[in-house]
Amino acid sequence: MSKVVTRFAPSPTGLLHLGNVRTALLSWLYAHKHGGRFLLRFEDTDAERSEAEYIAAIRQDLLWLGLGWDGEVLFQSAHADRHREAMRKLDAKGLAYRCFCSENQLNLDRKLAVSRGLPPRYAGRCRQLSRDEFEARAASEPFVWRLAIHDAAASGADVVVHDLLRGDVQFLLHDLDDPVVVRSDGSFTFLLPNAVDDALDGITHALRGDDHLTNTAYQVWLLKHLGFAPPVYLHHGLLLGSDGAKLSKRTGSHSVAQLRAAGLFPEALVQAMARLGHPNIPEELSGLDELAEAFDASRLSTSPVRWQDDAMWRWHTKILHATPPATLAPLLAPHLPPADAERLEAVAGLIAGNLERAEQAMEFGRLIDATVLDSVESYEVGREAGWDFFDGALKLWQQRSDADWKAWSAAVSTATGCKGKALFLPLRAALTGVLHGPDMGSVVAFLGREGVAERLEDMLARVAA
Ligand code: GLU
Repeated sequence: MSKVVTRFAPSPTGLLHLGNVRTALLSWLYAHKHGGRFLLRFEDTDAERSEAEYIAAIRQDLLWLGLGWDGEVLFQSAHADRHREAMRKLDAKGLAYRCFCSENQLNLDRKLAVSRGLPPRYAGRCRQLSRDEFEARAASEPFVWRLAIHDAAASGADVVVHDLLRGDVQFLLHDLDDPVVVRSDGSFTFLLPNAVDDALDGITHALRGDDHLTNTAYQVWLLKHLGFAPPVYLHHGLLLGSDGAKLSKRTGSHSVAQLRAAGLFPEALVQAMARLGHPNIPEELSGLDELAEAFDASRLSTSPVRWQDDAMWRWHTKILHATPPATLAPLLAPHLPPADAERLEAVAGLIAGNLERAEQAMEFGRLIDATVLDSVESYEVGREAGWDFFDGALKLWQQRSDADWKAWSAAVSTATGCKGKALFLPLRAALTGVLHGPDMGSVVAFLGREGVAERLEDMLARVAA
């Protein structure tokens, strides 16, 4: 079998969203699983809506996700000659025709069809025009080009789409529309350039959402008449929002750029996405190469799958917990008081297990700066314990020469009569500024003799005020 070649073929008319990420990821995984190539092709034939800034953003987002492509980036607009040549062939074979129907006319036709209980397809008004009529009207009237699929229905050859998940899907030509392939401004719709480029770029497997299934039928028809072999298609079930409806802002329709700005680890998006609709990928954290290894396209669900932001953020937390302190420290730094690299790394090691997101580090500012106490609850716990409690605790601390949490807290308990929560919470509040967090033995070891004393003194000053 020839080497697998897949592609991601975005139209650069907007930022990369979750739905695109899924298609890109699945195509990447498929190529890597089979030792093949993954190409990136910008389908930029719609000059009016395509923007250079989106091309740059999509490239950056793919690289951020780790979905690098093989070879040069391809641009559909650079191959206009291929597409025009294909169009000439179709015209010469009588497989495409000019349609002069106005938007108004088409709307009326559609309404009429629906009112008669028929599918809202093109009524076929221009299908029967003679070549002379075409030529004459084309000189003065705007027109689009349509594929003459209904005419072909007379010849009886239906279309079969070979789908990796669904097997052979048969489309009856008389059920299909005569789709527009060239707009009235002369630009191509996606159908023809996409299919012709797949053929000429050597794409062996095209992975796409099943909302494209009918388009695929048109494209298989096109490729056959142009003398090309179609790729193998894989139509995966669509990605829906958490409520089962189309993805919306509320149910998780984020651009990759937004997620990056929110501080998400790219791997978290990849991990959550790779498992959607794919039952046999183990739940352990793994890299893209291991995901590719475990990926089995034939197990992909043809039913729609629901996106869950929570699942993605759970992966984020897992990854955060597995990140070594030295790597984590610079991510936490913007959320903590200033400190040198060594101290930041030590704090990162201390609190990593208590964070779900990097920004939560801001709760632990007191570990670095003894005068920070942002939590109202911690302040109140301190006030409730009272001045005498902290004075006693400080004196006992000063009598010691070690930084032994167990021995010190036992001594504080004996001296103050406080036990359990009444003992531990005020000490935690005083030393860390938060009522939850790393184990106190590690906190005390991290702060050291002076650090603990400074924080007890600060708490004393606060509760005395
Ligand atoms: N440019 C098309 C899109 O963005 C490509 C579809 C495909 O073949 O994957 O929908």
